[in-house]
Amino acid sequence: MDGIKRQFVFILLLISTAVSIHAQNSPPHRIARGVWFLTGDTNGYSNTVVIEMRDYLIVVDANYPGRAKQLLGIVKQLSPKQVRYVFDTHAHGDHAYGNSVWTAAGATTLAFQGVTDEMNRWEPTRWRNALAKRPDMQATGETDVQRPQMSIAGDRLTLNDGTREVDFLFLGWGHTPGDGYVWLPAERILATGDAAVNGPRNKLLDANIANWPKALEKAIALNPLHVLPGHGDAGGIEILQGQRQFLIDLYAAVKAQADAGKKPAEMHIQLPAPDNLWFPANRAAMRQQDIETVYLEIVSHAPAGSLPHEWR
Ligand SMILES: [Zn+2]
Repeated sequence: MDGIKRQFVFILLLISTAVSIHAQNSPPHRIARGVWFLTGDTNGYSNTVVIEMRDYLIVVDANYPGRAKQLLGIVKQLSPKQVRYVFDTHAHGDHAYGNSVWTAAGATTLAFQGVTDEMNRWEPTRWRNALAKRPDMQATGETDVQRPQMSIAGDRLTLNDGTREVDFLFLGWGHTPGDGYVWLPAERILATGDAAVNGPRNKLLDANIANWPKALEKAIALNPLHVLPGHGDAGGIEILQGQRQFLIDLYAAVKAQADAGKKPAEMHIQLPAPDNLWFPANRAAMRQQDIETVYLEIVSHAPAGSLPHEWR
């Protein structure tokens, strides 16, 4: 092998090593004492938050079954305490399809009532459609998503065991009608599920796109120091601001062209450049599906997610 070839192979090796380390081993990121953030990275997995209470652990988002099984092992390395509660931020499969893995391990699953309502509306059709592509779902032997065992009525549930306060908040219909946030007021940590993501594309199909920024304004008003999104890396309040601005800009751009008589296929959407590094992928790669979804909401005068639609 000549020198240049050898260098090339070495670089390839470096790249493949970097990729596999990123894909398999993003270590839990300790956000504060007893609060860890784990990025999903692969297989469509969502992010996970682990919160240590005096006598037990809370896990935010059940994830897909395959990731839930991995997490049972990972969580043991973080703390010897049992997982008592697993909170589904919303009904999407990458956040909730692992419910039965957690309950089999002794945890109680909980979510806002809107999450169960969404599951009752869309399942088991979505489960069935995802099954063919997901060996981890096939391994459960189940034919439907297990519903959360506890439903939170109203818009708030507070757990406070003297060592820590955890607030489960419903701030309005954004990404889905059941969106739950998890707020640690003392540490000013906010877990958002997909109400805010950091980088990856956010699906709008079940959303109330006009109302979503208003829900995010309530989240911004909490003034979090740490924002733990449903996908992508942890950050600060700029994740909420960026997600909000993106939705406002997208809605306004589609509305302007709809008002001018254009149909989605004729629309060319160029969103303003973000004033920070947030969301570059999403802004650059405007998907036709997102434009169509916003258009549908505008011309129907109803939340996009309330209209008949298929998950795709
Ligand atoms: Zn989602």
